Amino acid sequence: MAHESHSNFMEYDTRKIKSEKGIIPFKGIKRFNEKYVMYSSNHLQTLLQCPVCTTSMRPPIHQCVNGHTICTNCNAGVQKRCPRCQSELGDIRCLVLEKMAESMQLPCKYQSIGCPDIFSYYNKPKHEQHCHFRPYSCPFPGSKCSVSGDIATLVDHLKDDHQVDLHDGCTFNHRYVKSDHNEVDNATWMITVFNCFGKQFCLHFEAFQLGASLVYMAFLRFMGEDTEARKFRYSLEVGGFGRKLVWEGIPRSIRESHTKIRDSLDGLIISRKLAIFFSGGDEQELKLRVRGKIWKNRKAIISHSESFPQ
Ligand SMILES: [Zn+2]
Ligand SMILES: [Zn+2]
Ligand SMILES: [Zn+2]
Ligand SMILES: [Zn+2]
Repeated sequence: MAHESHSNFMEYDTRKIKSEKGIIPFKGIKRFNEKYVMYSSNHLQTLLQCPVCTTSMRPPIHQCVNGHTICTNCNAGVQKRCPRCQSELGDIRCLVLEKMAESMQLPCKYQSIGCPDIFSYYNKPKHEQHCHFRPYSCPFPGSKCSVSGDIATLVDHLKDDHQVDLHDGCTFNHRYVKSDHNEVDNATWMITVFNCFGKQFCLHFEAFQLGASLVYMAFLRFMGEDTEARKFRYSLEVGGFGRKLVWEGIPRSIRESHTKIRDSLDGLIISRKLAIFFSGGDEQELKLRVRGKIWKNRKAIISHSESFPQ
């Protein structure tokens, strides 16, 4: 099969050379080579899959006396018996396979959604863990939602499946009203999405137990990478009756979990006492008006030392 396509391409090339005097004579061969490399690396990748757990094997790769391969993890768990042929598994390493793996160059698994990078077999998994093209998890807090995807997909998903409000603009004035606020525990979560500078930001508002006291917290998350998030700043303000609390910060990427950001207290924190005072003080209803603004950070690059302590 591979041989047939080889000769077809060669014929095609010869014709090209004749008709175009060698201007693009090797296009066909190049195409053939790519196909060949893809074929052989796919085949190699199959060989590199552990037959027991199907993960990609890394050195040391073991084999039985009959040549059946097995990964290090599984090798430790099969009591020295090859799962394929039951023969004894000694300490035989499959160096040829390890070396062949080393010579492979593979595209990132997110190639189809935009990642242009090529990696060696052994470096690929590390890159894929942090690849900027990897899908984002749904940023909706408090639910074990398993939806993931690119930002556009997640914005639609938040709107359609979590009934999240979407607003255009870089300033906002949001009212949080809750009549049964005496029952609030960690279950009061609200999220609003803002479209601003062509990017999307999630405004979180929630009640949670901080030590012995209940607090309210508002913070902004950026729907994108951390490096992009640092290009923005935001402010939040809440008050009433001549008092005002102001928070100014940098939005955090949705790559970081919502709970991690909340627990690092990187946002506007309102004690319950103040929240009731700002609401009118009758303890019947929570009525908070949060004003906010998002703008571009004038200092384009923020050094790592300005990251929020964990
Ligand atoms: Zn295995
Ligand atoms: Zn075997
Ligand atoms: Zn990638
Ligand atoms: Zn979701």
